[in-house]
Amino acid sequence: MYEIEVIEELDSGHILDLPYDSKCKNIHGHRWLVKVKINAPELNNCGMIIDFTHVKAVLKEYDHKFFICSSHELMDLEDGWLRMPGHFDTFGIIPLPAQPTAEFLAELLFEAVAVLISGGEVPVADRARVVSVELWETESGRVIYKP
Ligand SMILES: [Zn+2]
Repeated sequence: MYEIEVIEELDSGHILDLPYDSKCKNIHGHRWLVKVKINAPELNNCGMIIDFTHVKAVLKEYDHKFFICSSHELMDLEDGWLRMPGHFDTFGIIPLPAQPTAEFLAELLFEAVAVLISGGEVPVADRARVVSVELWETESGRVIYKP
């Protein structure tokens, strides 16, 4: 069995809607450190599980973005800038169906890499699979997501 780890830094922001007093209820950002583990029993014709570059490109799609739950009150402002659909692309806002916690973002990144692996767009070893995504929100706090 072969296993690779791809590590990337993402500078992105989020806001959480929490039922208790927390600084995380303010708009803020993190330098997230992401580690994706992928394994496969055999290599592809290129001698790889998958090119690191292709995995990094998927992760980088989440760099310099802002994550917000689509039910957050900021999304309900009648004339607010968040309501203007074009601004999602212009300002890199990514509305999500859940709270953009480190836990949820780790799952989101896991699924994005899983789609890359199963999508057939780039060379991937047979039976390759994402093993886990580790996401550090701070140097002292991280999430490990594995289904
Ligand atoms: Zn945060």
